[in-house]
Amino acid sequence: MAQSLEEKRAKQRAAKRAWWAANPEQARARRRATYARNRERELARMKAYRTRHAEERRQYNKTYRAEHLKTIAIQQAAYHEANKAQRNATSRAYHAEHLDTIKARKREYRQAHHEALRIKHRVYSELHKEQLNTRRREKYRERRQEILDQNRAYSQAHREEVRAYHRAYSHANPESIRAMRARRRARKAAAPRNDLTRKEWERIKAHYHFACIYCGAKPKQLTMDHITPLVQGGSHTLHNVVPACRSCNSKKNVHPPPKAIQPLLLVGD
Ligand SMILES: [Zn+2]
Repeated sequence: MAQSLEEKRAKQRAAKRAWWAANPEQARARRRATYARNRERELARMKAYRTRHAEERRQYNKTYRAEHLKTIAIQQAAYHEANKAQRNATSRAYHAEHLDTIKARKREYRQAHHEALRIKHRVYSELHKEQLNTRRREKYRERRQEILDQNRAYSQAHREEVRAYHRAYSHANPESIRAMRARRRARKAAAPRNDLTRKEWERIKAHYHFACIYCGAKPKQLTMDHITPLVQGGSHTLHNVVPACRSCNSKKNVHPPPKAIQPLLLVGD
């Protein structure tokens, strides 16, 4: 009696299973070979696809990047933060080996990605504000003398330009100049705190409705009066400065204030 096709197939499958069970080593080797063959074929197929659609893919990536500049910058910042040690080691080694190539490539890249870089840097500085300020201050302290010397040399070489620049700047920003001079006076008096900014001074004046705190006059230009005078160890800071007219300020001088002053409880900026 002839076997049905169905039965024949079932028998073949059983025989195969028996062989696989009896020869586990060869079975494993065969499976590995099949996997490798298919993997090669699959990789080759994918690669061919990518090559065929290279231009499309480039366009797509370009559009995507342009539309998601900020997201990408944030993701990159997060990734860099999470993989710092590893990244540092790898890139230091690579960098040492390819210095010139890297420099040229960077220059080209900066020119081509001006806008993206601007956004990326802004995101980075927002995320690392405190850290960056600390580092900047440290760097300045380390190189203070060098920087001062450089600046002096530059000013001497460009005397007229510098003078014109300063004239234009003080004309355009009289309050900044006054704030700077006040800080310098405080520095000379070795005030324990010397951090009053121009913005804070504006807020103080606004708080007192631009009037002298002693006589209520509203002169065109108010002066900074230190509640505890600088010469008595007072600070040049938000809570020790009030607006006074020139006349009251000079009358007060280093004498105690003509009336008790409640220090300003504004929060610094
Ligand atoms: Zn006054």
